[in-house]
Amino acid sequence: MSVKYQRVVLKLSGEALAGKKGFGINPPVIASIAQQIKRIHDLDVEVAIVCGGGNIWRGETGAEMGMERSQADYIGMLATVMNALALQDGLESINVPTRVQTSIEMRQIAEPYIRRKAIRHLEKKRVVIFAAGTGSPYFSTDTTAVLRAAEIDADVILMAKNGVDGVYSADPQVDPTATKYDELTQLDVINKNLGVMDSTASSLSMDNDIPLVVFNLNETDNILRVVQGEQIGTTIKG
Ligand code: UDP
Repeated sequence: MSVKYQRVVLKLSGEALAGKKGFGINPPVIASIAQQIKRIHDLDVEVAIVCGGGNIWRGETGAEMGMERSQADYIGMLATVMNALALQDGLESINVPTRVQTSIEMRQIAEPYIRRKAIRHLEKKRVVIFAAGTGSPYFSTDTTAVLRAAEIDADVILMAKNGVDGVYSADPQVDPTATKYDELTQLDVINKNLGVMDSTASSLSMDNDIPLVVFNLNETDNILRVVQGEQIGTTIKG
């Protein structure tokens, strides 16, 4: 079976790991995502994953409630590590070899992020899970996904969304005339304020020509379908 992309960065929001409750880690949900990842791993696609943390903690929310922003953001980065370990568990339990690399060192549970080592793991067909975001407050895991994709020279970022099947001209829940875009540029996303990612992530992706596919994670086999080049979701050119 031929694939369109050889090396991908899959961005999983924290929400995607939470299931219906919308909070915390849901092992059956992780198991089903792991199965989807295994299907592309079986096709020899090199897979790196960036985990969000919003299912546990968001720095912005902490700051809104009076916490010092950087401190709140560090809690958010630690939340992404919990998600990464859960995902590692889900993948390894179905015999997909993985390594977790963290941008903040915690050597007892994961490797520190080392770019060349990450690439080596990918070449050896280990799924690399990047955790702890960029390691710096005021950034997001979307920005992390773009940064890591640039560093490891990924072909695409697969932006898996929870129940949303692409980018729309307006919120389809609110505006019945909203239409889905098949293709956009990052400049469109920024100019039209489409809110796909934060502006730091969008501009980094634009400046470095990294394409992105936004698609619905909740439909079985969508990761596989995107990797095989099927036109689903919205493709955003760098
Ligand atoms: N975070 C951060 N720096 C980073 C990445 C993440 O400070 O480089 C913090 C930030 O507080 C954020 C939280 O980690 O709210 C969880 O990440 P994010 O909101 O991107 O997760 P997602 O929305 O994808 O679940």
